[in-house]
Amino acid sequence: MEKFSQLNLSKEFLANLNSLEYTNMTPIQQKSLPLSLQNRDLIAQAKTGSGKTVAFCIPLLNKIDVKNFRIQSLILAPTRELANQIAQELRKLSRHIHNLKVLTLCGGVPFKPQVVSLFHGAHIVVATPGRVLKHIKEENIKLENINTLVLDEADKMLDMGFYDDIIEIINSLPKNRQTLLFSATYEKNIEKLALNILKNPEFVKVENEE
Ligand code: ADP
Ligand code: MG
Repeated sequence: MEKFSQLNLSKEFLANLNSLEYTNMTPIQQKSLPLSLQNRDLIAQAKTGSGKTVAFCIPLLNKIDVKNFRIQSLILAPTRELANQIAQELRKLSRHIHNLKVLTLCGGVPFKPQVVSLFHGAHIVVATPGRVLKHIKEENIKLENINTLVLDEADKMLDMGFYDDIIEIINSLPKNRQTLLFSATYEKNIEKLALNILKNPEFVKVENEE
């Protein structure tokens, strides 16, 4: 499978991808999307610049019920810059879904306005681990409708010491969910995390030369 049009996506979704000039899938998208669109848990490893953001945004957007104004997807990312990039990509990829609300919850910005935004609601939250955990502990965020968890740049999050925070966040999520773990590298610490939090995962990897 090489083209997005070969995936089982709505014609509105495909038309939007087309308008973004996303026609051919990158290798990591080719390997991961047929599995992730079937709701499988996934460990995906490919180097920077290989199109991992699109690879994890498509399956979660495909499941969004925009009429259900509750948080359905949580994406964890190591830094505010990355979280903002992911939110921007999500907004582009979801132009065909009207009234979709994407909220970022990152450290280094005022806390109170985030509480207000959470009160007003969102479908997708993109967050750094420390900040979202603070909202969880203060019971500002409802997690019971989350059906997809994404860990982006999982290797970097572990390098930054977020292992315990990630576990604590996951312990407050519904057990019945899809978990997608994306990483540029796959070392022992990622494996330990993956084995703890993924259910019967598929492992997809793109070598540098592919
Ligand atoms: P990674 O997370 O693997 O480092 P990104 O998700 O940031 O990579 O993607 C890198 C760039 O490739 C982005 O500018 C993105 O818009 C672009 N891109 C992703 N998928 C495709 C595609 N199928 N066709 C064309 N460009 C793509
Ligand atoms: Mg990335």
